[in-house]
Amino acid sequence: MTGTGAALYELDGITRVYGGGEGRVEALRGVDMTVAQGEMVAVAGPSGSGKSTLLQILGGLDRATAGEARFEGRDLGAMRDGELTRLRRETIGFVFQHFNLIPTVDAAANVELALAPRPMDPDRRRSVVAEMLDVVGLGHRTGHLPGALSGGEQQRVAIARALAGAPRVLLADEPTGNLDSATGREIVDLLARLRAERGLTVVLITHDEGVAASADRVLRMGDGTVLPPA
Ligand code: ADP
Ligand code: MG
Repeated sequence: MTGTGAALYELDGITRVYGGGEGRVEALRGVDMTVAQGEMVAVAGPSGSGKSTLLQILGGLDRATAGEARFEGRDLGAMRDGELTRLRRETIGFVFQHFNLIPTVDAAANVELALAPRPMDPDRRRSVVAEMLDVVGLGHRTGHLPGALSGGEQQRVAIARALAGAPRVLLADEPTGNLDSATGREIVDLLARLRAERGLTVVLITHDEGVAASADRVLRMGDGTVLPPA
């Protein structure tokens, strides 16, 4: 483990229930976990085990039905929507399986859009965008539309976009799920490098055991809970 030891996330008895009556689904059924500052944690488990639901709660995109999720000691469930929005914008970067790039604008504009809510001098904005695309190894592709990029390159743009707001945490939901294994490997190596260079905390959902093995620690989920270590 390479974190500093201080807890970034502490989750106690997190449940998340969707719907009600016949349609009621307990996506999370009492998740306890901690993530240390600077750690890279993989979350593995079968489809439907609650991984994405967990990541959305960590990211302040969703709220638990019961239990407590603390980020740097602050109870996420007690924050107002506006505070959660600010926390997401200033602290957390998201990376998704399907990249979620805007197809009609180039790589630079996709990254720049992440900075849109911030008051920022246009020159400064351009230099942050260029720097982030450089960091992910795409300095030579800034003017390409997503459709003219390979899957791995598109995921790099998405990572540059996630980094643009200078987050302290990266939350990645199956970031290699749409990539061949060699390209997926490169993306995970990039996440690991960013973690080391920028002191980021990374929570990475994956189906791929090889990907999971590159994390400091693997949490395994089954049926809405974190399973005890095997
Ligand atoms: P995973 O990411 O591990 O595949 P999810 O967190 O997406 O799992 O889903 C966990 C369970 O919650 C599944 O049974 C899924 O169908 C259900 N679920 C997820 N999102 C919703 C939703 N918005 N409404 C109702 N059920 C949902
Ligand atoms: Mg999922």
